[in-house]
Amino acid sequence: AKKTRLDKFLCDSLNMTRKEAKESVKKGKVVVNGEAIKKPEYKVDAEQDQVEFDHKLIQFEQFHYLMLHKPQGVVSATKDHHDQTVLDLIHEDYKDRLFPVGRLDKDTEGLLLLTDDGMLAHELLSPRKHVDKVYFAKVSGQFGENEIARFKEGLDIGNGEKSKQARLQILKADVQESEVLITIMEGKFHQVKRMVKAVGSEVLYLKRLSMGSLKLDEELKLGEYRRLTKAELQELK
Ligand code: URA
Repeated sequence: AKKTRLDKFLCDSLNMTRKEAKESVKKGKVVVNGEAIKKPEYKVDAEQDQVEFDHKLIQFEQFHYLMLHKPQGVVSATKDHHDQTVLDLIHEDYKDRLFPVGRLDKDTEGLLLLTDDGMLAHELLSPRKHVDKVYFAKVSGQFGENEIARFKEGLDIGNGEKSKQARLQILKADVQESEVLITIMEGKFHQVKRMVKAVGSEVLYLKRLSMGSLKLDEELKLGEYRRLTKAELQELK
């Protein structure tokens, strides 16, 4: 397998800056295959070598999983000629391998999972898997029982497409504007906006709160991200 510099390996595996990694190595805190290595440029084979930090074995992680609180104004793509992409918000040296799992519209906020694990992405996006996605939306007009029933039946969302059963929960309903939670198991292009349009209303604000078991960490400010915890990853798989 490909060899990596020891300091880089530490940054990638632990949440560490390059500077911290270098200093730890120089201080003799890092042991490779039983031997203290003090050179940050020392090359390790991430899959074969046993690297210990502070007497603990570092588990080699093949893939990366980041939870991003996507802000408005960035597109869910890896490259774009005009707009900032979600990857422009990521500052990790492995970021070029990442891609977003599914898409949020440019003006949608909320939970976006970024990974380089193609298998997991495929599983989460597969229509057969029925992964629930929960959105918070502000919509025009007064939502009520009628809308709940129509979302449940499935809606004609244009282009000859029909949405499957979806759950609508009403948090607040005023004549001008309502606040709702919408749970869908599909991921058609502009799906939520098209469903809302199908009942004669319009989405004014949209935020994804969860995807399967994964919930947006409300501690993350817009544009911030963090690694998934072990527990979050295990639940998701
Ligand atoms: N549905 C939409 O219409 N837009 C999104 O960004 C996500 C779901």
